[in-house]
Amino acid sequence: MSDAFAFFAALDRPSPEITRDNAPFFEGCARGELLVQECKACGRRQHYPRFACTRCGGDVAWIRASGKGVVHTFTIVRYTRDRPFNELAPFVVAMIDLPEGVRMLSNIITDTPELVRIGADVEVLFAEVSPGSQIHAPYFRLCVESLNG
Ligand SMILES: [Zn+2]
Repeated sequence: MSDAFAFFAALDRPSPEITRDNAPFFEGCARGELLVQECKACGRRQHYPRFACTRCGGDVAWIRASGKGVVHTFTIVRYTRDRPFNELAPFVVAMIDLPEGVRMLSNIITDTPELVRIGADVEVLFAEVSPGSQIHAPYFRLCVESLNG
């Protein structure tokens, strides 16, 4: 576990509102599973979670994603006055393309933000949004860092 991840996990970050539509997603995160919605009628996959398919209005089911991804784009936040993120800077906010066909906004947790590149391979990891909240969210790390422990 990287120093960056330990520091990130210890921060008291804002919790998402759990709704009927997104509860299965966050329950999956708590089990260590990254879930994506798939339309039962047309097969379209979507993230973030919604009541129905954004293409055809059909009912949606949940599929488990591999947890792999590729950086579509990112920014390094080097300064913010907003607590608790001011303690975290510099940190990486990224759009991650999953091979399952959806794009996810998340953080790349890294001790070395300068290594983040568009097109870099990343993999999911989960953490409570704040210590003891029991609401888990997905974050990503660079695969090159996981190879190094
Ligand atoms: Zn559909």
